[in-house]
Amino acid sequence: MSTIWYNLVKTRINLSKIRANFLFLKTMAPNPIPVIKADAYGHGLAPVATTLAQAGAKILAVGTVDEAVVLREVPFDGEIISLLGPVTKEDYEKIVPHKIMPFIYTWEQMAYLQEYIGNDRQVSIALKFDTGMARLGFTRDDVPKLINKLKSMPHVRVKMVCSHLATADDPETKEFVLAQGKKFDTICLDLHKGGLSFARVLVNSAGLLAYPELHYDGQRPGISLYGSNPFWGTKWEAKGQKLTPAMEVTAPVLSVHDLSRGQSISYGQTFTAPRDMQVALVACGYADNYSRALSNKGWMLVHGRRAPVIGRVCMQLTAIDISHIPQTRPGDLAYVLGGQGKEKILPEELAKWWGTITYEVFCLLGQNTREYE
Ligand SMILES: *Cc1c(COP(=O)(O)O)cnc(C)c1O
Repeated sequence: MSTIWYNLVKTRINLSKIRANFLFLKTMAPNPIPVIKADAYGHGLAPVATTLAQAGAKILAVGTVDEAVVLREVPFDGEIISLLGPVTKEDYEKIVPHKIMPFIYTWEQMAYLQEYIGNDRQVSIALKFDTGMARLGFTRDDVPKLINKLKSMPHVRVKMVCSHLATADDPETKEFVLAQGKKFDTICLDLHKGGLSFARVLVNSAGLLAYPELHYDGQRPGISLYGSNPFWGTKWEAKGQKLTPAMEVTAPVLSVHDLSRGQSISYGQTFTAPRDMQVALVACGYADNYSRALSNKGWMLVHGRRAPVIGRVCMQLTAIDISHIPQTRPGDLAYVLGGQGKEKILPEELAKWWGTITYEVFCLLGQNTREYE
């Protein structure tokens, strides 16, 4: 697994939580296709893939073609989607032998499919359309030309048609979400009229949880598998309440000392003790992807109680106020994410203090040494 030698931070992944989240999503929608790109959002490609395959996943989606090759070698025998699709000549050459289904979203890719793969080998693709994200994808106007082009490419089979929702996690944007659904419908209809038959896949986690009318033939949940509720803090929070986070992050306390009233701590004197305090130095900093943005904003858990970050987060150290947790000693574990017992640091809270989203928290903290249970 991922082992790094220069730090003391541990990222613990509870695979049974990922399994339970997947099974919960399956009660909500018929065909969830787990998204495990970027090393399964920092949770580890191989262990997560194995867990999901055992839980019944027949198709998995990764980002790059190389990730798809690694997933094939896990081994995973089901269908593998590459969401970023082929970029280099080597990528095209890997698609057929590793049975990868790439997202195809540019004319250049269509041309390379013909040039690099040739007419003698069958290849399945997922066509990606833009319906409002304005990121990757063909548009409705491209459909006639696409249908024509595909007629000259009998070795290419369009197995799936996809688009991506831009705002599904914001209950205030329902109209925009449904408008994307309408555009997707129109595009699929045009393609059907052109003689193609395929599976339609639109929604991400938030769309899966909140828009059953947009479930179509498959769904692509990512963040919800790892237990983050896309509706946390919104009026739709209950829709994701059954999800449980799978990642916990800990680091040891290295030292405990007094900080007298009026004394400042850490670089730049950004925190001065308003009273006599006790502080603990935790072996976790921005080199461990514990962002410097958490300076004077974050919280950790020690002995099941919350302790605020005081002063600037350093490269490998962060100070927390433990005046109210006097039993703290060097060697005790501080929870950066998760926790033992009732009190827990939620990924959504950590993301909020950090000024980001749970996706980034998982991807970054997941780069530390991981342990599995
Ligand atoms: C990452 C990704 C998803 C998963 O989105 P979540 O919000 O994590 O559920 C789905 N589709 C595409 C194209 C993606 O890139």
